Amino acid sequence: MKSFVPTLVMSECWPESFSFVDQYGGRPWGLPEALWPSCSSCGRAMPLLAQFAHHPKRIDLGREGRRVYLFLCQNERDHCYEDHAFVFLEAEQCTGRWTERPTSASALLPSVTVVGWREKEDGISPEDYVRFFQRLEEGGKAWSSLSEMETKLKGTPTFIQQPGGDAATFAGQIDCFLKVIDNIPPELWQKDQLGRSIYQSPTEGPLFMSRSKEEGIAYLDFVNFGDSGMGYFFIRPDRERPEGSFFWDCC
Ligand SMILES: [Zn+2]
Repeated sequence: MKSFVPTLVMSECWPESFSFVDQYGGRPWGLPEALWPSCSSCGRAMPLLAQFAHHPKRIDLGREGRRVYLFLCQNERDHCYEDHAFVFLEAEQCTGRWTERPTSASALLPSVTVVGWREKEDGISPEDYVRFFQRLEEGGKAWSSLSEMETKLKGTPTFIQQPGGDAATFAGQIDCFLKVIDNIPPELWQKDQLGRSIYQSPTEGPLFMSRSKEEGIAYLDFVNFGDSGMGYFFIRPDRERPEGSFFWDCC
């Protein structure tokens, strides 16, 4: 199956964008403030998990120019980790600027910019892909033969251990750790008391990251999906009424 793997950088160490970019975390771009969704459990504005623009190969949103914004509550105090919302926005509704953060927002997720997409064959045949979702229907659990916990669009899910989702609408997965290019100025890297590497973000405070053995690569502790979890999203790309669904699962 064909998958699309993002090349990621920490947004605040990268030139600011003045147009829509695919992104994980941070503030939405182009979304009218009134459309920023609140959590149905705790009532606070939810952090953005990701935003993507329609692309005929990578992510079909049913209409050219359409964008999707996926929000997920991460309000630890009220134990909200699963409330989420999809907002689909047409090109003509876009404000053409960064969305102002609502006062009721709990902490946002660190902002990570997609600077490129790499097309990758994941090695799973279309038949095995369909079988993965059949196993899910039958037993509520399915593991693919993929070993890598990879953030991507399309391709085959790494594992799913609960009913939900189907082969036709699977749109992508988001790992709790994002693999990013280490574009962080060396002086902003620090160690915390436990000896863990942290990136002392000028605006977001300390962010936990680990440097990979791979030169120039780091892993960002991005979102709480339980213990080493993965988030899965599904999109039905209807021209008039697109719909999304999301859940996360941990090992
Ligand atoms: Zn909440």
